[in-house]
Amino acid sequence: MEPHTKIKVECPFCEKETLEVLTWPSHTEIKSSRSAVAKSKTIRKVSEGFELMSDRCSNCGKNANEIRKAWYEDFSKTDEEKRKKRLEELRKLGFSGVIR
Ligand SMILES: [Zn+2]
Repeated sequence: MEPHTKIKVECPFCEKETLEVLTWPSHTEIKSSRSAVAKSKTIRKVSEGFELMSDRCSNCGKNANEIRKAWYEDFSKTDEEKRKKRLEELRKLGFSGVIR
């Protein structure tokens, strides 16, 4: 069974669905290797993931590195907002410390 799925996602620069991304849920991979001595199976846990397949955006020409960077900055922005929200919630409860 092949758990990997190819999807199209929006380019963070031009917002056109031009980027091919491979995504997969967390799953277990069993690899059997045959040697002269014995058959052995290796079980590997694969956590869910996301990988950019395209080298560049076919619309605006941004390359994979620029796209990954834009995504990364997007994610960290979200985290920052989540942290602030959490801090506000805690303040309402009477918390006055600093969250790391
Ligand atoms: Zn683009």
